Amino acid sequence: MHEIEQFFSRYVAERTKRDRAYWEYHSSLRPQFFTTVPQDDPGKEWIAKREAESIIKLELGADRAEVRTSGEGMGLKRYILSRLADGWRIERVECACPFCNESGGIAVGERKSCKFCKGSGWRKGSD
Ligand SMILES: [Zn+2]
Repeated sequence: MHEIEQFFSRYVAERTKRDRAYWEYHSSLRPQFFTTVPQDDPGKEWIAKREAESIIKLELGADRAEVRTSGEGMGLKRYILSRLADGWRIERVECACPFCNESGGIAVGERKSCKFCKGSGWRKGSD
């Protein structure tokens, strides 16, 4: 397993811990502020999708890498990574543009590129 794959696996595992803690806290507030409490736990599905995110493509440079993933059931994601002295770090996260389906191009009148992603095919995403 490549070191970036190990890094990403560790990241997803830690993110999942945070997601579970967040959801537990969120659920604990519900009875105080809402009239109903869902019978099914919608957080389980949300957490499972995020936990299942996996690498589908890895482009490796000397000190930078691009990791494309399956996303979280809502479209592809990509992570731009930088190598620091003590290992890899995520520089930014992007989501495939849902308007042009990652192509970057939607021809509308004079415009040749997608106005939502400015032709890149990607939009700012979150972790
Ligand atoms: Zn677009």
